Amino acid sequence: MTEKKKLIAGNWKMNGSLQANAALLQGLRDGIGQPACNVAVAVPAPYLAQVQALVAGSAIALAAQDVSQHEAGAFTGESSAAMLRDFGTRYVLVGHSERRQYHGESDAVVAAKAKQALAAGITPIVCVGETLEQREAGQTEAVVKRQLAAVIQANGHCISEIVVAYEPVWAIGTGRTATPEQAQAVHAVLRAQLAAATAQAGRIALLYGGSMNAANAAQLLAQPDIDGGLVGGASLKAADFLQIIAAAQSNQA
Ligand code: PEP
Repeated sequence: MTEKKKLIAGNWKMNGSLQANAALLQGLRDGIGQPACNVAVAVPAPYLAQVQALVAGSAIALAAQDVSQHEAGAFTGESSAAMLRDFGTRYVLVGHSERRQYHGESDAVVAAKAKQALAAGITPIVCVGETLEQREAGQTEAVVKRQLAAVIQANGHCISEIVVAYEPVWAIGTGRTATPEQAQAVHAVLRAQLAAATAQAGRIALLYGGSMNAANAAQLLAQPDIDGGLVGGASLKAADFLQIIAAAQSNQA
């Protein structure tokens, strides 16, 4: 069991509105108090300013869902790490499977995005995970190690500053969760890979993501190498997200 604080990060994906965001965050603020774990919400880019204001003075940190691999320039539609920083962004997702799948993001692109985030003082939450086909072909370990290796290679000694989220693609948004044992097995592989890369591997939070909800969070978060959760659908309802946060607190080392 690690001693660091667990991290529960919500990924709103492309959901929300000014009104819905205000209601969701009010519900979270009303119920969250001073949690023993870290909490973040990854919001769509247009709402960064709104959410920055709404979480001010609370235990909720602001996260973005993506960042450009470039520093600045002619990259229409993209947001640089410095821009995210301007809004007090503390974390940014990189390499979410929906970005890899629908936007063709390669391991090299994901590594470059992590580098941009780190250079701006933002913690990248590096998402890795295998498809169902890859799992059934016995390739899970090789896939997640390859994805993480690219980030390690591009980021050298800064690697201890990242967060890693293991998100089996077959479990995202499907209601099909990895068993705690399946998740723990992959987390142990990732932990060992990080330990080989840095003496600071113990500082790195390893999150599980994939249909985590109020009912299954406690068991997942009880695993020795699961340091938190990246939560999609269940982060859109304050009551559900608060229950996951409560589960993380009761599992806090
Ligand atoms: C995600 O989007 O990162 C995710 C894990 O989604 P869900 O919890 O809905 O499976």
